[in-house]
Amino acid sequence: MASIFTKIVQGEIPSYKIAENELCYAFLDINPLAKGHTLVIPKKEMDYLFDVEDELYKELFAFAKGVALAIETVIPCKRIGIAVLGLEVPHAHIHLVPINSIYDIDFKQPKLEFSEEEFKEIAGSIREVYESENQ
Ligand code: 5GP
Repeated sequence: MASIFTKIVQGEIPSYKIAENELCYAFLDINPLAKGHTLVIPKKEMDYLFDVEDELYKELFAFAKGVALAIETVIPCKRIGIAVLGLEVPHAHIHLVPINSIYDIDFKQPKLEFSEEEFKEIAGSIREVYESENQ
């Protein structure tokens, strides 16, 4: 059965898209630790990040870099933290989280809630920067 993230890539489940290319897709985490918390995934479904073939792995991290730079342009923060867990969704993904302190990337912290309008506004602002820098 297709993973929930494959369904997002295929448009069967909606997402607040940040960016995509032929191989990768980035969208806002629905239960964010911080405003702008983004997930970056390979479109090809694979559970474990370190099982991803080298070429795609490099492409994924290069793609994530462009997304991270767009996030930090829009969201005031010291830097973008990066985390890989994969304990909930068995489709390889990288968390990009705007952080000001170590506590901002503590996954035990309560998640933030945003309205649909707020999610759209956050994604739209980051997407605009990403597109201006990468196309
Ligand atoms: P992990 O697998 O890295 O432990 O956590 C999966 C992450 O995916 C969580 O942060 C969770 O909020 C996020 N997530 C799970 N289902 C969905 C979904 O349907 N849409 C979005 N945008 N994020 C999701």
